[in-house]
Amino acid sequence: MTRTLLHGGLVYDGTGSPPALADVVFDGDTIIDVGHGLDGDVGIDATGHTVLPGMFDCHVHVMFSGVDYLKGLARPFSLPFYESVVNLRTTVECGITSVRDAGGADLGVATAVRQGVVPGPRMQISVSALSQTGGHGDGWMPCGSEVKLFPPHPGRPSGICDGPDEARKKTREVLRAGADVIKIMTSGGVLSPRDDPRHGHFRDAEVAVMVEEAAAMGKYVMSHAQAASGIVTALRNGVRSVEHGIYLDDEGIGLLLEKEAWLVPTMIAPRMVLAMSAGGGLLPEVVQKAHMVVAAHEAAVRKAIAAGVRIAMGTDSGVGPHGDNLDEFRLLIEAGMTPEAALHSGTGSAAGLLGVAESLGTVEPGKKADLVLAEGNVLDLAQAGGSVFRKAIRGVWIDGAQIVGC
Ligand SMILES: [Zn+2]
Repeated sequence: MTRTLLHGGLVYDGTGSPPALADVVFDGDTIIDVGHGLDGDVGIDATGHTVLPGMFDCHVHVMFSGVDYLKGLARPFSLPFYESVVNLRTTVECGITSVRDAGGADLGVATAVRQGVVPGPRMQISVSALSQTGGHGDGWMPCGSEVKLFPPHPGRPSGICDGPDEARKKTREVLRAGADVIKIMTSGGVLSPRDDPRHGHFRDAEVAVMVEEAAAMGKYVMSHAQAASGIVTALRNGVRSVEHGIYLDDEGIGLLLEKEAWLVPTMIAPRMVLAMSAGGGLLPEVVQKAHMVVAAHEAAVRKAIAAGVRIAMGTDSGVGPHGDNLDEFRLLIEAGMTPEAALHSGTGSAAGLLGVAESLGTVEPGKKADLVLAEGNVLDLAQAGGSVFRKAIRGVWIDGAQIVGC
């Protein structure tokens, strides 16, 4: 086999420790050594660069390429499948080698990546997001029409369900369709015109059966949860990660800590909605809600960070353009994380949330050779913002195969 040596650079190992000078050697798909004075068959000079683990984005929508209700009505049904090819590629070019798709991508999209038909990051998919009638996933409009962000099709069942019996059946349907993780919505949201992000959705009995059915198949549940009550309902019933967490309160923070669950803040998401509102394709109710949540969201995430809650990096990319993902690190740092901790949220901590920490998330012997080479010190890049960080990415490897750079 060929041993590839990245030498002379800093290594950020993904554990939250600061970067330190070291060499990294990988052979095939596996990292075999990290240390000083190592040798290999092929050498890459990493002087002035940082080697870091392939990063994670725990909340993306690769089938979305920006949300615009009017334009959406005129878009051919199958166009998002083709656009996802570009979105997946863009994501990898950011140095993101693992994603969790929070709704939209079906088993065909994930299989195309897994079989190497299209280049892309490792994927955990949720297929369809489960929502109550009148919830964040219900596309009913006051005019009587429905505008669905995820139109159901044979590979992507409708996610609407009410009551424990329907919730159980719907969870089984989505698992049958190939979900690696069950996505539910325990509160209203910003993009849906008919609900309120301050209201909790689904009751305990419904969430309990979703978690029970997922666990029976060895899977876990992530919840879009913005209302304080919806966050608490999710955590009380065993949900593994709270997405967005806009109105997270002390009770929710206490439960996150007690249950050792993760918060995936997606700080960038309301900002993407506001940026897109300039295009005029969003309903006024949606724009108003995006303005309403930004300050509360920042305050809640700041409090959670100070309390020591486990954070995993996620962006909701797809709601806005793909490729700005790395800007989330800057926002997490502004909300009180150290740069080391912010990067940990997108490496070692995220691997823990996705249940893949044994093989991914850190630069250590025995781990998969998912690696990124970035020009400069990665702590500076994380603070500098998404576009600077992305421009500094010089190489990306997945399973030891170089996807970006040469
Ligand atoms: Zn989302």
